[in-house]
This record gives sequence, C-alpha cells and structure tokens, in this order.
Amino acid sequence: MEQTDRMDCREGRDIRAGKKRFSKNAALENASWESGVRKVTPYTPGEQPRRAGIIKLNTNECPYPPSPQVKRLAAEFETDILRLYPDPEASLLVKSIAEHFGVGEDQVFVGVGSDDVLAMAFLTFFNTDKPILFPDITYSFYDVWAQLFGIPYSRPALDEDFRLVKEDYLVPNGGIVIANPNAPTGICEPMTVIEEIIAKNPGSIVIIDEAYVDFGGMSAIPLVEKYDNLLVVQTFSKSRAMAGMRIGFAVGSPKAIRYLRDVKFSFNSYTMDAPTIAWGAASMADDAYFRETVEKVAGTREYLKKELSSLGFSFPDSRTNFVFASHEKVPAEEIFLALKEAGIYVRYFPGERTGNHLRITVGTKEQTDALLAFLRNYLK
Ligand SMILES: *Cc1c(COP(=O)(O)O)cnc(C)c1O
Repeated sequence: MEQTDRMDCREGRDIRAGKKRFSKNAALENASWESGVRKVTPYTPGEQPRRAGIIKLNTNECPYPPSPQVKRLAAEFETDILRLYPDPEASLLVKSIAEHFGVGEDQVFVGVGSDDVLAMAFLTFFNTDKPILFPDITYSFYDVWAQLFGIPYSRPALDEDFRLVKEDYLVPNGGIVIANPNAPTGICEPMTVIEEIIAKNPGSIVIIDEAYVDFGGMSAIPLVEKYDNLLVVQTFSKSRAMAGMRIGFAVGSPKAIRYLRDVKFSFNSYTMDAPTIAWGAASMADDAYFRETVEKVAGTREYLKKELSSLGFSFPDSRTNFVFASHEKVPAEEIFLALKEAGIYVRYFPGERTGNHLRITVGTKEQTDALLAFLRNYLK
C-alpha cells in the first residue's frame, strides 16, 4: 500500500478508480529532507588547544616523541610517493605488527587509528537483534558507534570500586566490548576474568580494546590462537607516541580478520596513506625505543600517584598513562577549571559517577612537577 502511494506520488497520478488525483506539488512541499537524515549525537573529543606554553595532560598522548627511526624516514621523505595510491593492504605495516606479536599477517587488520578499527569491527560483527554489552563507564565512543549503526546495546554498571562485574557478560548478547585497562578508570582486570568472558561467549565476537595495555597491563593477544571469537584492538596513539599519525590495529583469528577486511574494502580501500604505512612500520620495528619510552611514562605515573596521594587525592590503581583521581575535599570541576586557567589541561567527565574525578595524563617529569606544584599551592 505504502509502495503504491509512493508510486502514485512520483507518477503524479492515481491509478485507483474513484480516488481524487494526487497533487504532485503538495506532496513535495510537505516533505522535509530532514526526516530522512541519520541523526546522531557525536562523540565529544578532548580539547586540543594549540596555544603555545600550555601543559597538555588531557588526551593521554605520549609526552615523548616517536621513535627516531620515524624522524629519519620523515627527513628522507620523497613527495613523489604521494602521486600513487597507497598499498590498500598496508602490507609493510601489517607485516611489522605480525612480526612483533608473532602472529600471521592474516591475523592483523590495520586502520586509521583504533577508532577506525573499532568502528569497522562494530559494523562487521554486531549485526543481530541482541544487545551488545559494554560497561557503564568506559570509552565513550562505544555507545556513539552503536547508535550510528543502529546496534542495540546494554551497559551493565561497574561495581562501586569501578570493577567489571563478570556475571553481567555471561548472558545472551550480540557482542561484547571491554577496554582493558579500562578508560577513564585505569583499572586492569585480570586475564582469567577476560578469558572466561571470551570462552563462555562462543556465539559472540568479544572485542578487547587495549589502548593502554603497554603501560603495565596484560595483553589478550596470546588468546587469539585459542578463541576465534576474540578481537584485540591496540593503537599507536598512546604508547607509540603517534596520535597525530592515526594508526590502530586489530589482532584476531584469520576468519575474523577476513570478515573485517571485506567490510573495510566495501567502504573505502585507501584510508591509510603511504607515509603512515612506512613510518608506522619503522616505529613498530624499534622495540628498544618503545620499551624505554613506556618505562619512563610508567615510572612517572608511580611518582604522580605517590604525590597525588599525599595531596589528599584517591584513585583506582592505574596501569595506564593516566590517573583517575578525586580529591577528599575540593570538587573535581573546581580543580579542573583552576588548572585550565593556569594553562594545565586535564580531562573532566561530568556525570553522576565520574563528575568528581579528574583524568590526568602522565606527562614528562617536568610537566608532572609543574602540575603538582600548582596543586600543592592551590589546595593549601
Ligand atoms: C585513545 C583510545 C582509543 C582511540 O585511539 P586512536 O587514537 O583512535 O587509535 C580507543 N580506545 C580507547 C579506550 C582509548 O582510550
């Protein structure tokens, strides 16, 4: 019936006897293109102030530069390479990641930041009527993708210590996403819990988002050999100091990776540019520099924790490059605004359970000391 009406409207005539003739113009005038728009509430990224002289501790970037191998390649960069399409398979980069983790090249998928990889994974794997599950309090992009793609979802609450409640993930579902360590809490759940969730959900893809794992967490990558429903996602944006380059990747079973690639190549084949492929591979190959950088950040994190405690802050035990801290007396929003005024940017998430916390990225020792000096004076 609806189909017939639409036809009538388009044709501008009524094929049914006795019915008044459709007015083509009236139908067109009453229509609004906005009724057909895909309406979404976008993700709110952290502020990216470009002002010189600020201390930027709000989006968990690495305070140290990328591997010197990246600089060397950048210095030698020939613009002629830009004339040609890049390798759609990003083989050089895929190979470097596969070698690093000791997996097959058919077990690695790369994308333009892990946001791109995660979005592709949502689109590929979460395609049933059952809700996907991720905790209430986690990376705030998951519900945005679910809404964008029309995926039903449910968000079991973390417990009062911000810990994952395992049983919440042992119910029928259309897929599972867990950031481990979690953001913005910094908490790392033990691998036994993660493995049990993967093992007991053979009917769903379980995505483990390991954006922060290099700072002291345990990776689920070894489990991909055992469970073909596991997809582990990591990024170059934090531990590999290349947020501006946009590289993320997934490691999984060859079958899962094949499905991901099919969707990616049905969407846009050439998302990753040629310099990114080459420089990303160089960064991945420089393991010594990577380890040294990550150790420096983890060392400063422990120092930051100790000093914050002595200033009256408390926080869950962070295994990441940030600390999710609340003060015993002063509301987080107040401190957040005072810090910003002083040119020190940290992240503040309004909300019932997160609204009295600041997420403070671990900077260099000097940046951390500047932050602590300000807080010592402000809280006095
Ligand atoms: C930073 C972050 C990402 C996205 O990182 P990209 O820069 O897109 O690689 C994904 N998940 C979590 C939990 C993050 O914190």
